Amino acid sequence: MSWSRSSSSSSASASSYPPKTDAESLRRQRISSSKLYNPDVSSKVPVIYSSYYDISFLGIEKLHPFDSSKWGRICRFLISEGYLEKSSIVEPLEASTDDLLVVHTEAYLNSLKNSVNVAKITEVAPVAMLPNWLVQMKVLYPFRRQVGGTVLAGKLAKERGWAINVGGGFHHCSGGRGGGFCAYADISLCIHFAFVRSNISRVMIIDLDAHQGNGHEMDFGNDERVYILDMYNPEIYPFDMTARNYINQKVEVVTGTTTDEYLKQLDKALGVVRSNFAPELIIYNAGTDILDGDPLGGLNISPDGVVQRDEKVFRFARERNIPIVMVTSGGYMKTSARVIANSIINLSKKGLIDTSARSGMNQ
Ligand SMILES: [Zn+2]
Repeated sequence: MSWSRSSSSSSASASSYPPKTDAESLRRQRISSSKLYNPDVSSKVPVIYSSYYDISFLGIEKLHPFDSSKWGRICRFLISEGYLEKSSIVEPLEASTDDLLVVHTEAYLNSLKNSVNVAKITEVAPVAMLPNWLVQMKVLYPFRRQVGGTVLAGKLAKERGWAINVGGGFHHCSGGRGGGFCAYADISLCIHFAFVRSNISRVMIIDLDAHQGNGHEMDFGNDERVYILDMYNPEIYPFDMTARNYINQKVEVVTGTTTDEYLKQLDKALGVVRSNFAPELIIYNAGTDILDGDPLGGLNISPDGVVQRDEKVFRFARERNIPIVMVTSGGYMKTSARVIANSIINLSKKGLIDTSARSGMNQ
């Protein structure tokens, strides 16, 4: 297990951002005219979900080793156990092509018009055989809704102190490339929107999914406004050595790492970043594929360990009054939804978030 700090991003000069180029002004224009910040949230709690998130058709979703309706199941647990009212949930809009162009290249978005490419990105081979209109409707549309949710979470976190997008966390996708079930770079989009619309200038990404977050690393590698703490298993996908150079705080947890060791490493890492960077927004990528038994993650973290992990990160943010966005990212075992719901309930019990209807702004 190694633990080291990379200084690769310190070579860019602070004065080079934001770059005053045509591309940058076009990006600002797109962000300013976007509707993603529009939904009326005044009477709601900052928990974001739409029934459109859930992917299910023709049984194809069963071919990927995952529960593609975990997002809806998380909400159903929270509602049935009295921690969330259905009417309090914020429904996001779909990210439009113009919104996506804030970080994505036109060439990349065009590549999604070919079902073979979408099959490669989602790792569901039969998707290649489907007409693209069906792939757009059943796979990419749900993802675009989740992207809208992550972007909106940035706005809500600034206003309320915290926000949870029950979906999102597509951390393998960068502006020019998708992969690992991630077709759109929602984290990068959320951050660019926060820069322009919420007047935020320093963001910390805390990526605790089992996999390395190479998408946002490629997007912000030389951007001093973004500090990345990534704790991941180096022995699994994506083995992206270029992106690894862009991690500010790298914590490698090898296959078989246990709960105690994992939480100890997390405490140590949070202790270091505390004095290294003063963020105005934290994006927390809370993948649950660190769970013991996950077919992809290789780590042996108990359900209670995941709950403790999330509590540590929220405590880190809330005690310092730093707005925090949580996205749920990877982890698609049948038990994942239950663990995530338990974790949100724990955050509520510990007073780190308030999901009751009375916490709405106008109530
Ligand atoms: Zn993952």
